[in-house]
Amino acid sequence: MKGLIILGSTGSIGVSALRVVDAFPGRFEVRALSCNSNLSLFRDQLEKYKPRYASVSSESVHESDEYRLLVKSFPGIEFLPGSAGLYDLASIDCDILLSAIVGGAGCAPAMAATKHAKRIALANKETLVMAGDLFMKEVSDNRCELIPVDSEHSALFALLDGKNREDILRLIVTASGGSLRDKSASELTQVTPEEALAHPTWNMGAKITIDSATLMNKGFEVIEAHHLFSLPYEQIDVIVHPESIIHSMVETREGSIYAHMSVTDMAFPITNALTYPEKCENPFGRLDLAHIGKLTFREYDPVRFPALALCYAAGRAGGTANAVLNAANEIAVAAFLDRRIGYVDIVRVVSDALAKHQIQSAPALEDIFEADSWARAQATSMIRGL
Ligand code: NAD
Ligand code: MG
Repeated sequence: MKGLIILGSTGSIGVSALRVVDAFPGRFEVRALSCNSNLSLFRDQLEKYKPRYASVSSESVHESDEYRLLVKSFPGIEFLPGSAGLYDLASIDCDILLSAIVGGAGCAPAMAATKHAKRIALANKETLVMAGDLFMKEVSDNRCELIPVDSEHSALFALLDGKNREDILRLIVTASGGSLRDKSASELTQVTPEEALAHPTWNMGAKITIDSATLMNKGFEVIEAHHLFSLPYEQIDVIVHPESIIHSMVETREGSIYAHMSVTDMAFPITNALTYPEKCENPFGRLDLAHIGKLTFREYDPVRFPALALCYAAGRAGGTANAVLNAANEIAVAAFLDRRIGYVDIVRVVSDALAKHQIQSAPALEDIFEADSWARAQATSMIRGL
């Protein structure tokens, strides 16, 4: 049995990962689970999987009766509270750690896990956006195996397997285009959180769904691909593919394009990340191509969706620019969901923070966290002024 730790088990990826655990009985021993504040779902998970360790991050729930009762109900589980506890939980030895926390909060625990997990299954792309160079160095120095969970990168990982790097012309990352792909520029100024949250093909957490609507998520995925597969930004392209059947493509020198297709269910790439290099028979559905009928492609519109170009620019600038990109976006998305700013203000806030930032090249981890805090404060004050 593989000892498995799931960071963010109450989220969309975390819940799908536990579906994978259920689908392969006897294969995984759930050693530790973590959540931020959803105690009722967390209680159900602790009851069912009986991990040795658990962590609830949000300090605001630690004083609640519900939390005290939770800790009391599970005397066999060691609780490691707060962000320090989460860091300790990520430092427990295991076969596989699935990093499925949303946002910059996932970065420090993922960094810690490089020293203790044999394999990291990475869903938290923000780690690679914020600190890609340092994270990849830790992964390599500690001989930790890193397998992507993001569907596009899971596809690219499979497609690149067995191919010579010199033969790769480019990676083509597919984008559904998000919930607002057909809105006009003027309609975009009126978008509500409900409209932006209605993703056409994927059912995901709120933050990544908004990032998909702005195409910030696709920009993050370009940066993610750059770090995971060590290719320059010139060799990473994006194409809109509304059906989300092809999860990404690889074009080789002689002009072949290899595409990876599968059902639109995150349990699929999660299974691959947890069971690699085995190809397990998966119970999550098969594609019926005749039923699907046709697959379509189109260019993305850089005028209506300026976030992607912003990500390419920040990715190329490197250093602390990416930490600022990530942190300002996180604050802006939260403000949009809270109806404090409009949809088009999200990219405005991020772009303004990037313009004001003095990029530090080759930053240490402390510099990255400092840039992260700076960008959060900067974005917060900008939002107040809007
Ligand atoms: P989600 O919001 O559904 O879940 C996030 C999880 O992180 C929850 O368990 C929550 O309790 C925990 N969490 C939130 N804030 C935290 C904090 N400050 N400290 C500690 N824990 C915290 O998010 P999700 O959609 O599951 O996405 C998780 C990650 O996976 C993101 O980085 C996202 O970009 C990536 N991802 C998600 C999908 C998807 O289909 N949902 C696909 C590809 C990549
Ligand atoms: Mg993705």
